[in-house]
Amino acid sequence: MVDLQSQYAKIKNDVDPSIEEVMNTATFINGPKVHEFQKNLENYLDVKHVIPCANGTDALQIAMMGLGLKPGDEVITADFTFAATVEVIALLQLTPVLVDVDPVTFNIDVNAIKNAITPKTKAIVPVHLFGLVANMDEIMELAQERNLYVIEDNAQAIGANYTHKDGSKSKAGTIGHVASTSFFPSKNLGCYGDGGAIFTNDDNLAHTIRGIVNHGMYERYHHDVVGVNSRLDSIQAAVLDAKLPHLDTYNSARRNAARKYSEAFKDHPKITIPTGKDVCKGICDTCDCHVFHQYTLNLKNVDRDALVSHLQANNIPCGVYYPIPLHKQKAYKDEHYNEADFTVTNQLVQSVISLPMHTELEDDQIDYITNRVLEFINNNA
Ligand SMILES: *Cc1c(COP(=O)(O)O)cnc(C)c1O
Repeated sequence: MVDLQSQYAKIKNDVDPSIEEVMNTATFINGPKVHEFQKNLENYLDVKHVIPCANGTDALQIAMMGLGLKPGDEVITADFTFAATVEVIALLQLTPVLVDVDPVTFNIDVNAIKNAITPKTKAIVPVHLFGLVANMDEIMELAQERNLYVIEDNAQAIGANYTHKDGSKSKAGTIGHVASTSFFPSKNLGCYGDGGAIFTNDDNLAHTIRGIVNHGMYERYHHDVVGVNSRLDSIQAAVLDAKLPHLDTYNSARRNAARKYSEAFKDHPKITIPTGKDVCKGICDTCDCHVFHQYTLNLKNVDRDALVSHLQANNIPCGVYYPIPLHKQKAYKDEHYNEADFTVTNQLVQSVISLPMHTELEDDQIDYITNRVLEFINNNA
């Protein structure tokens, strides 16, 4: 699904010296590299504060702790996402409220959010799924109206640009009150181990969060709040700082690959290609609202699992993200959920398939993949 070896081979001359610097100075924790990367990412995103931490799951948890959410507070998020999002809500003894997604963008459905708001609702967590930014203008409007926090789960969309209704642009993860991201190796900006970060433009919240990531300390050995130990180590920061200047090129390479896939699949009656905002589909030359963390097709009248087997038999990796709706997971079942409220997610888990997507895809690889997909679909009517 990804090719991190070829990617590393091309940037070895940037990455190795950056890591060596950490080795030679033995500044493994909170070294200068962490601070440098933090500043460079703040500039890249045009956000006031980046707080690095140990991974994307911690980032979400710490963001929620920073906002002072309390047990019993309801947090609305998407039913169709990676489990980390709902996991931290439950861990903090907040009440997860899962809602359905939009059938076209796969992102959280704003009307479903509206219907799920109660007097106990405190926050909304939109996930920019597969690299496409959720409908942030409407989500922020709703949040303002109902006095709710918005926490963007930006683990899959770093570098994506969101175009507001007025035409201005913001980077994903800088629109809500706070955002989290992950630097897991296969993410769009990945390190060589675990890593994550929290972003915010709110000075007070940033201060609170800087203490939380460091055992609740604002002054050495004074523990004012219950915190955690969550650090981005200096070697990972060194890798990320070397890779950050390549992020836009990497995201363009992903969009190019997506464009080639979509060229092959468009207009097929059984295949819906990934779609961004109505017209641009996220893959036009000027738009960068979709950074294709995954390239995901939605199939109609195709035996998806047989296609998975066919691709595997042809040495093509593929993935089903996600095969089970969160509301049906043992850990997150709740008697209050009504199946009729999850028609889209319940359908998507049966009909989506994600194809290889990374920065090193060659045209002949894409041709091979699209041919194998189409031959299966056209021969199995
Ligand atoms: C990867 C991911 C996370 C978790 O990140 P980790 O660094 O693996 O903890 C959270 N949310 C989403 C949507 C993700 O894709």
